[in-house]
Amino acid sequence: MSDLSNKRIITVATTGAWPTKDNTPNVPIEPHEIAQEIYNCWKEGAAVAHIHCRDDHGKAAMVFEKFEETVRLIRERKDCDIILNITTSGGVNLKEADRLRPFYELKPEMCSYDCGTMNWQHNAIFENSPQFLEKLGTMTQEVNVKPEIEVFDPGMIYNAGYYIKKGFLKKPCHFQFCMGVPGGIMATTKNLVFMKDIMDEVAPGSTWSAFGVGKGAMEILYATIAMGGHIRVGMEDNVLYRKGQIADSNMQFVARAKRIIEEFTCEVATPAEARQILGLS
Ligand code: ZN
Repeated sequence: MSDLSNKRIITVATTGAWPTKDNTPNVPIEPHEIAQEIYNCWKEGAAVAHIHCRDDHGKAAMVFEKFEETVRLIRERKDCDIILNITTSGGVNLKEADRLRPFYELKPEMCSYDCGTMNWQHNAIFENSPQFLEKLGTMTQEVNVKPEIEVFDPGMIYNAGYYIKKGFLKKPCHFQFCMGVPGGIMATTKNLVFMKDIMDEVAPGSTWSAFGVGKGAMEILYATIAMGGHIRVGMEDNVLYRKGQIADSNMQFVARAKRIIEEFTCEVATPAEARQILGLS
């Protein structure tokens, strides 16, 4: 096995639940747009694609057929070995069954696991009940899909510790520190260090990645690389490339992350290397 300690995984989250074509004409919304964008991001160095889909009106939704089409279009590109990570949280107020179906039937290698409930951006409840998290954990194990444990505050890391203890999450775990979302922890280096310390205490041996939404985005990007983490970029988290400038594409974010990783004298992990790092089989 090659030395993986110097390799950093870039995850691209091209679409998310919220940005619309009104926010930025460059966000991919339709399955064919998302699939093409993911392919292009893979060419730039992304090893993991975190996938959301929208309904026919471009709204946040968990429409199975949209995921099916998107995944099919990516899998048809035979040269593209990017790891697929399907969301289980394509918005708020969604039916549990609709949230659980895409990963369960389409069997990507990963899916999101949002490890607690929060007040989302001061306007809605992002609900992940204890019963839902037990069911989601059980179902990921049934189909051998690795959960990416998304945590928006330190309490959610302790929550993950509970589900590990109860067997709903299997070690070694992979965490995604989602920072700077109103209602969650602010995106600062101090907070990132705090989150990582708690993860090391609660779930030693875990791998981790992080991103910052809004003004903390660059700080979290640089701090994560410096602290040995993996990184997520893309329009799900930021539509601005920098203050006052809308990103041309998701590829622009991937290319910047790659430059920063390489300037730090690390290397960007290929999908095959990311599979080894994340223990995907
Ligand atoms: Zn997401």
